[in-house]
Amino acid sequence: MSRKGIYEIPKPEDVLRISIEILEEYGIVSSLKMLTKLVNMRARTENSRWRIGPQRLRKIVAVSKKVEIDVITKETGERLEGDVKCMVCGEAMRPEMNRTLDGDVVVLGYVCGNCGYRTGMEKKAPLRYTFRLR
Ligand SMILES: [Zn+2]
Repeated sequence: MSRKGIYEIPKPEDVLRISIEILEEYGIVSSLKMLTKLVNMRARTENSRWRIGPQRLRKIVAVSKKVEIDVITKETGERLEGDVKCMVCGEAMRPEMNRTLDGDVVVLGYVCGNCGYRTGMEKKAPLRYTFRLR
């Protein structure tokens, strides 16, 4: 049996339920690394084979709309262009447009239709994620 076979990936509803339990208990968890650790510790008390990775965990809680995620970002000095991916859930973002009095269309920023995250025109790098219940 391969080593990989000893792990199981819990269903999204289990990941979300455990995440909510953790956030009810701690109130606020101020890094993705810490949330991943706490959720995995709790998950293993239910099923010792369960393993939850940080990217998957972040996406599941982001799309649930039950968890508020704040992102502390670092400025890069570059402008966003082309295909913009959401730094919270990883989905494609769409531009938010506005029309000026002159009739020109300007892009104000980008919004994620999947999790609701908004960002301006500047490209930023995520430094730290903070999680709390909505
Ligand atoms: Zn998103």
